[in-house]
Amino acid sequence: MMITFEQVTKRYGERLALDSVSWGMDEGECVVFLGPSGSGKTTLLRLITHETSPSAGIVTVGTFRGSRLSRARRALLRRTLGIVYEDFRLLTDRSVFENVALAVRIAGLHADVDVTPRVEVALDEVGLSRLSAALPSELSFGEKQRAAIARAIVNRPAVVLADEPTGALEPRSAHEVLALLGRIHHEGSALLVATTREEVADAPPVAVEPQAARPGPDAPSSATAPVA
Ligand code: ADP
Ligand code: MG
Repeated sequence: MMITFEQVTKRYGERLALDSVSWGMDEGECVVFLGPSGSGKTTLLRLITHETSPSAGIVTVGTFRGSRLSRARRALLRRTLGIVYEDFRLLTDRSVFENVALAVRIAGLHADVDVTPRVEVALDEVGLSRLSAALPSELSFGEKQRAAIARAIVNRPAVVLADEPTGALEPRSAHEVLALLGRIHHEGSALLVATTREEVADAPPVAVEPQAARPGPDAPSSATAPVA
């Protein structure tokens, strides 16, 4: 298992966000967390990235186990993940190229000869090569999300996490983004998508098969299913 939750509970004060969720996903797998707003999807992703720690239970991501990781280990863990957000989170004063290049530099590669080809390949993969020099403000929402996906995949993470990746998109761009995520999955990344939208879980290639996720009663589980 690449990601494992063992009876993970998360409380925010009195509020129970996840109730004893046990769940796991393997390398190369695709899982969709489908559930209404407030069902704990983002909490689950933040537990995987170790932005927050569980109130009880154990989260394991690759060789990173438990919540007592040093800052350095947490930083290392995040570098094995590619993260895509609903609101893109692009730096508005940097070009598309620079937004993606920054992720490469944060991962420790600084020479142009290392950075440039990686960024070019990632932008080509998401179909944004011609907009490399554009600022985010010059892009459509769909293009912004594709730039964010290029940033997420540029370091070839073992897992791509996408939190409501189509939430801000009209249907056509949403479809493109889902197709792109599906392609990335088929090329070998594990993919975890959290969404309120059934069509995301229905849309091939992000389809779902029912044994991967076994969340607790309050988990985003009810609608959860892993992918074929
Ligand atoms: P989803 O992403 O499925 O909408 P969340 O994981 O964001 O769900 O939220 C799950 C529950 O936890 C909700 O009731 C939400 O209000 C609560 N919650 C999430 N984050 C916080 C926080 N930082 N402080 C307090 N409550 C939170
Ligand atoms: Mg959320």
